[in-house]
Amino acid sequence: MNKSERVVIVGAGHAGGSAAALLRQYGWQGLLTLIGAEPVPPYQRPPLSKAWLKGDGNLADLLLRPAAFYQNSHIDFRASCRVAAIDRAARTVSLKTGECLPYDHLILATGSHARSLPVPGHNLAGIVELRTLADADRLRTMLRPNARIAIIGAGYIGLEVAASARMLGAEVVVIERESRVLARVASLPLAEFFHRHHAGVGVRIILNATVEEFCGTAGRVAEVRLSDGAAIPCDAVLVGVGAAPSDALARTAGLACTNGIVVDLAARTSDAAIHAIGDCTHRPLPRYNRTVRLESVPNAIEQAKQAAADLCGRALPAPEVPWFWSDQYDVRLQIAGLPFDVAEIVVRGDPETGSFAIFHLAADGAVQAVEAVSAPAEFMAGRMMIARRKQVVAARLRDVSCSIRELAA
Ligand code: FAD
Repeated sequence: MNKSERVVIVGAGHAGGSAAALLRQYGWQGLLTLIGAEPVPPYQRPPLSKAWLKGDGNLADLLLRPAAFYQNSHIDFRASCRVAAIDRAARTVSLKTGECLPYDHLILATGSHARSLPVPGHNLAGIVELRTLADADRLRTMLRPNARIAIIGAGYIGLEVAASARMLGAEVVVIERESRVLARVASLPLAEFFHRHHAGVGVRIILNATVEEFCGTAGRVAEVRLSDGAAIPCDAVLVGVGAAPSDALARTAGLACTNGIVVDLAARTSDAAIHAIGDCTHRPLPRYNRTVRLESVPNAIEQAKQAAADLCGRALPAPEVPWFWSDQYDVRLQIAGLPFDVAEIVVRGDPETGSFAIFHLAADGAVQAVEAVSAPAEFMAGRMMIARRKQVVAARLRDVSCSIRELAA
């Protein structure tokens, strides 16, 4: 590598920030520029719906690395700076400021953005989405004791905010279009567990409900109107209806995109000079013989390792089993794998105790995925079984007197 070679990373989130640090760790001696649209150095988003909303922690705890790290590592970090376009022929990116930066290698780490709900009234004050630290700080001021919070969408972010708001003493209503909570992202037994848990602490959950409009007084939201005519009075609304890949830059530049920027196992895009990592990508998953778009911190870090290794001429890391976590109240959910080609679902442990695991088995008994609720041993064992394509007998898995470690061995 030539010391004047330049890597430019677009997007200073979990993936971009990790890639910058890993490039230095793996011995990249060339120039390195990290460009982020937000005003802060790379930080962790998961606490934004959990500890941060409850007022726990400070900015230093949220940052991936101390602010001084970038200067000390000779990383030219540019905050509050947005890339407007990529010129692949000239190998340059142009910034919103009009400045043009050359690159030899480009890493796109533009993440995803919260989907909006474009119904009448969506611009009223008091309606927020949750993606950035600025969003979280805005939401935090609204979560006061007895404040009436309406949450649109019962996915992970919606339910995590419901838990945080309830713990702060707010009155919470969750409005979901589907017939159950976590409809796209969890199995039925898991969804039923979380529904019961939230309802048990006083969260009102309305299912099969479509938001028709937001109504306000003096420019501020005061009510959510549903298509069946119901009106939900509220002081604030969180719209948590999912995220979409931020792949517009890549699409405009002509890179192959299908629900995210298409990459291979080295995080390479359809242009040899451009890698893409994190939420903005559509990636292969060899364990399942499929391509998917994932939104998780472990995925962002895994792909940052792939891109950094590829650029530094190192062996690529072995593919990981995808995993994810969610914290709600005192419940820690950990999920490993994805429930593709599932023939049988096995519940190990009693959900009533608050500690149990749901294993998803293929027809040959191979463990495809595990959803573990406050059950770290089952999560660890499940993850190992998925990686090794371990086949298990459902009855033994269901029998809690059979040691999970022995089943995984
Ligand atoms: P991002 O973190 O979205 O970062 C992308 C960055 O690129 C952003 O800062 C954006 O401003 C910037 N950018 C975009 N376009 C440009 C441009 N043109 N120029 C310059 N900069 C640009 N995952 C888990 O595994 N567990 C959890 O518990 C969990 N909880 C979450 C809670 C919340 C509230 C949210 C929002 C996410 C959560 N996630 C969780 C998901 C996880 O945070 C993401 O998967 C992860 O942040 C993805 O990292 P990324 O770098 O790909 O994208």
